[in-house]
Amino acid sequence: MTADVRPPADAQTFPMLVNGRRRAALSGRAFDSLDPSTGRVWARVADGDAADVDAAVRAAAASLDGSWGAFTGFDRARVLRRAGDLILRDLEHLAVLESRDSGRLLKDTRAQVGYVAEWFHYFAGLADKFQGETIPTDRADMFVYTRHEPVGVVGAIIPWNAPLLLLAWKLAPALAAGCPVVVKPSDHTPVTAVELGRTLAEAGLPDGAYNVVTGYGPAVGQALTAHPGVHKIAFTGSTATGIAVGRAALGNMTRLTLELGGKSANIVFGDADVEAAVNGAMNAVFIGSGQTCVAGSRLLVHDSLHEEVLRQVVERTKAIRLGSPTDEDTQMGPLVNAAQHQQVLARVERARAEGATVACGGGPVEGLPGLFVAPTVLTDVTPDMEIVQEEVFGPVVTVMRFSTEDEAVELANGTRFGLAAGVWTRDVHRAHRVAHRVKAGTVWVNTYRAYSPAAPFGGYGLSGMGRENGFEAMRDFTELKTVWVEL
Ligand code: NAD
Repeated sequence: MTADVRPPADAQTFPMLVNGRRRAALSGRAFDSLDPSTGRVWARVADGDAADVDAAVRAAAASLDGSWGAFTGFDRARVLRRAGDLILRDLEHLAVLESRDSGRLLKDTRAQVGYVAEWFHYFAGLADKFQGETIPTDRADMFVYTRHEPVGVVGAIIPWNAPLLLLAWKLAPALAAGCPVVVKPSDHTPVTAVELGRTLAEAGLPDGAYNVVTGYGPAVGQALTAHPGVHKIAFTGSTATGIAVGRAALGNMTRLTLELGGKSANIVFGDADVEAAVNGAMNAVFIGSGQTCVAGSRLLVHDSLHEEVLRQVVERTKAIRLGSPTDEDTQMGPLVNAAQHQQVLARVERARAEGATVACGGGPVEGLPGLFVAPTVLTDVTPDMEIVQEEVFGPVVTVMRFSTEDEAVELANGTRFGLAAGVWTRDVHRAHRVAHRVKAGTVWVNTYRAYSPAAPFGGYGLSGMGRENGFEAMRDFTELKTVWVEL
C-alpha cells in the first residue's frame, strides 16, 4: 500500500455475514476498499479465506435441512415480496454505498437498487407458481409426475460493475426456488452485498439462507467453486475467470451458470432514424464508463450514414461531462480501479500502434483526481485488431462501416463473444432477419439495454453458459425429479 492510500482514521469497517452473524474473517485479516473517485481508501473489509467459505457453506446447508428448507413456496414468496419493499425503503442507503464503492454515478446506483427491488418482487411472484407436471406415459398402471426441487447450496460470484443488481439476478431466483446462497462479492465492491443482509433478515429470511464471504478471488472464489457442499455456481465476471470457474466446478459436477464478457455490435442501417441511433450508440457504450458487459463497443454503420453518425457520435462524446459520481451534473464517472484504468489506456495505445485513428479521447483526464479515462472514439480499425476482438471494459467505441446486410452480419458475428447486439432500421423485415442471424443472447431492435426480470439474458460463445432471469433462471436453480407411482 502506498502512503497516499493508507486508510484514514474514519475508514468504515465492514464484516462478512455467516449464519446470520456479521463477523470478522476467521483469520482476523481485513483488506482496503478504495473510493475510485478519489483513489483513497474509504472502507476496511473482512478478508475471508477457505475456512470462512467452509463455515458459510455449512451454515447454508444447515438452513436447507432446517428452517429455510421448511419454507413453502408461499412462505418464500412472502419473504421475497417484503424484501423488495424493504429494499425500496433502504434504497438511498444502499445506492450511496454502492456508488462510493464502485465509482458508478449515484443516479445510476439509485436506479439499479430500484431494479433490485423489481427483481425481488418478480421472483416473489414465481416462488409459489413454479410447479411440476403430470406426465401421460405408455404405462396405464403408472402415475408419473415431476417436481422442481431446490438445486441445493448456491455459490454466487459477483463482479464489480453492477454489484447489487447482478447479485439480485442470482439471489432472487435462487431464494424463490428455495436455495440457500453463499455470495462472494468482488473485492473491489464488497460492501453492499453485506449490507443487503440486514434488509433480508428484517424481511424474514432465516439465518444461514444468505451468507456473504468477502475476500479475494483466488482465496474465496476458488474455495467456493471447488467446495463439494456447493451444488450450483452462478458466476458473472470475465471470460478468463469464468473458464477457470467452470473447470473447477465440473470436478464436483456442480451446476453452472456463467455470465461472461462481451464485444457487442451495434448495427446502424441506412434507413435508421439517425437521432435515435446516435442516442442509442451513446447509451450502448458509455453508461457506467463503458464498464458494462453488454457495452455496444463495436458501432457498425452503413456507408450512407457513416459520415453523419460518426460526426454526431464524436461531437456528443467530446461533450460528455466527467466528474464526481455524486454530482447530479456528471455524465461519466471514473473507472473502478487502477488496474482497469491502465488496461483501458494500454488497449487504446495498442490500437493506435496497429493503425487505428483516435477521433476523440484516447487518454487519461487531466485535472480530475480519480481514475478517469476520456471517452474515446476510434476509427480506421479492421476486424482482426485486438481492439475489435477483445473486451475493453472502458469508455471506448470503435466505428466501422459496411455496405451490405451480409457484410454487417459477418462483422457483427466476427468475434468469439455473443452477449448482445443492437439493430437500428425502419425495415421490419430486415429487423427480424438480422436479429435472427446475429449470434448473440439478446438482440435489441431500435433500442439498447432494455432488461426485465421476466426476459432471459445470457450469452453465446465466450459470453457464457445458461440464462438468467425469467422461468429459465428458476429452472437453473432447481433439479427436476420424476416420480413413478404404481397404481
Ligand atoms: P473477474 O472475472 O475478474 O471477477 C469476477 C468475480 O470472480 C470477482 O468476485 C472475483 O473476485 C472472482 N474471482 C476471481 N478469480 C476467481 C477464481 N479463480 N475463482 C473464483 N472466483 C474468482 O471479473 P470483474 O473484473 O470483476 O468483472 C468484469 C467482467 O465481468 C467483464 O469481463 C464483464 O464483461 C463481465 N460481466 C459480465 C456480465 C454478464 O452478465 N455477462 C455482467 C457484468 C460483467
